[in-house]
Amino acid sequence: MSKAKIGVLGLPWDGASSYLKGTADAPQAIRQAFQSPHSNQWSERGFDIGAPGAFTDLGDLVLSADPATCRRQVESGIADVLDHGFTPLVFGGDHSLSYPVLRAFKGRRPAFQVLHFDAHSDLYDDFEGDRYSHACPFARVLEEGLVQRLTQVGIRTMNDHQRAQASRFGVRVHYASQWSGDIDLLPGVPIYVSLDVDVLDPAFAPGISHREPGGLSTRQLIDALRGIDAPVIGADLVEYNPRADVAGQTGAVMGKLFKELIGLLIEVGA
Ligand code: MN
Ligand code: MN
Repeated sequence: MSKAKIGVLGLPWDGASSYLKGTADAPQAIRQAFQSPHSNQWSERGFDIGAPGAFTDLGDLVLSADPATCRRQVESGIADVLDHGFTPLVFGGDHSLSYPVLRAFKGRRPAFQVLHFDAHSDLYDDFEGDRYSHACPFARVLEEGLVQRLTQVGIRTMNDHQRAQASRFGVRVHYASQWSGDIDLLPGVPIYVSLDVDVLDPAFAPGISHREPGGLSTRQLIDALRGIDAPVIGADLVEYNPRADVAGQTGAVMGKLFKELIGLLIEVGA
């Protein structure tokens, strides 16, 4: 069990979503799912996430509708959380925000790698004229050298441009078509986990903006998270779109993943 002081922070924003809006509603919906009496609050790692002091809810950041302003607010908000000694779980919002989140980590934490679960590689140099789209964050992260390596899991939408970007930046890609459960991480290097819930097959999690069939099962994803035993310096849980959910099905998945990520930080958070 780690000594990490875990803080969770909601990012209610969908300003860089290219198709459907709605991830701004995710933080409140995830809290409700976590608190729902449909389940207990224990993680599969054996921790009671609902116990007093298991984590601190830092609320939601107040974010501008203007994308550049929002990015500055996220970066400074996360910097503040890190400077207060928290190991953060950032949740809700679209995936564009992982870029300003990771900018805040640079220099505040030792060098680290990113383990990225997603249907999409999010490596576009620009997407429909927007270099800060939720299709682009890891191009920006890698250009700035914010991380030692990016390892992606569950990818199933690669095109020639993104394949070239992955090669240019030395990204390690585990395609959904090659799923084995083994993940090739750099040994001994702390990990930041970026979890785009559309890594799951839409049969398991339809409440997302870009339904891409052929993904992981909820069981495979939880097992992959349970396999992480290196120090984890932070995590995000993004791209849940409650407006696209079906009878709260994805909400239940998000409540589960919220518990499992906090359990991960309790066990190996740094
Ligand atoms: Mn993504
Ligand atoms: Mn995605």
